[in-house]
Amino acid sequence: MSSRSIAIVGLLATASLAALAAPDDRPGAPAIAWRQHDIQRPKPPVVEPADVPIASRPPADAVILFDGQSLDAWKADRGGPARWKIVDGTLQTVPGAGRIETRREFGDIQLHVEWSAPSPPHGKGQDRGNSGVFLMGEFEVQVLDSYRAETYADGQAGAIYGQYPPLSNPARPPGEWQTYDIAFRRPRFDEGGRLIEPARITVFFNGILVQNAEPPFGRTSWLEWEPYQGRKGVRGPIALQDHDHPVRYRNIWLRELPERMDPSPADLARPKVVALTPATLDRYAGRYRHSTKSDSPPAIIARDGDHLTLRLPSRPRAFRLEPISETEFDMPHTDGRFTFRVDASGKVTGVRFQIADGDREWTRIGR
Ligand code: MG
Repeated sequence: MSSRSIAIVGLLATASLAALAAPDDRPGAPAIAWRQHDIQRPKPPVVEPADVPIASRPPADAVILFDGQSLDAWKADRGGPARWKIVDGTLQTVPGAGRIETRREFGDIQLHVEWSAPSPPHGKGQDRGNSGVFLMGEFEVQVLDSYRAETYADGQAGAIYGQYPPLSNPARPPGEWQTYDIAFRRPRFDEGGRLIEPARITVFFNGILVQNAEPPFGRTSWLEWEPYQGRKGVRGPIALQDHDHPVRYRNIWLRELPERMDPSPADLARPKVVALTPATLDRYAGRYRHSTKSDSPPAIIARDGDHLTLRLPSRPRAFRLEPISETEFDMPHTDGRFTFRVDASGKVTGVRFQIADGDREWTRIGR
């Protein structure tokens, strides 16, 4: 082949690759992403996990989903009771019995799951100890026998299935108990059902961080992920996948996570700022030192227009102190207050610095 025809073949190959990399116009699609289940996608490195004991008791506020005794928390996702088996205190997938899911629905959670792949191992690739933990019924954290067993990177144990391979592969051998500790933040939608914040999934697999607050593009699925479906007040069940393999589970519990509270206007109310003359403000300017730590570097208070500034030796930025009375100053962004001490002659001798529940006295050591 001539060098010219080699160049043309090269061009054609480049053109066909460009055609494959067409932009993904599904809502939530990242600008650049691997194609799903790409066998060329790099596999995460194998990491032998630390040999840490598994906690024998869940935290006091946990919702127990499986404690070895009953399947009461679960149902078949097609309806009716869950038809998986309890064997020696473990929950065993019954091939063909279908996926099971919790009767209750959950939003933001911390979830603990222990699982064990069938031993001796059987099959290969995705046909080897496959199950899965579905968050909100939609986002699968893959369960698979990934111990010395290969499959596509976004389908191995600890993957957010079809989207994010785990960062490491800390799988234990089949038959051994393995742990998933998952932090899940549900997606947020606006009133019109439009996605305003994707879900977030963090996974520790056998104590090793394998998913670090990753945002799923949409619900996980085989072949192609699916875009988010806008819903209000989203919650969903925890589900366990029946993939025709007798994977075992035990010690399944979760903690429901509260919403962070925004402050109300009353919470943000602060004393009214008053106007003091420059002369009044100037008399507070000077160097102050912790009253009982004589070797500590001084804090410096200065006037800046209608307020004071505080420079602490260890902080790069000056803090703003706003007058709320003749002798008291408030920090606008911090629950902090400064009350200056003034002696009978009108000389400023020190200041009390209150921050939240802490209280410290500074002595004025000079201008
Ligand atoms: Mg699976």
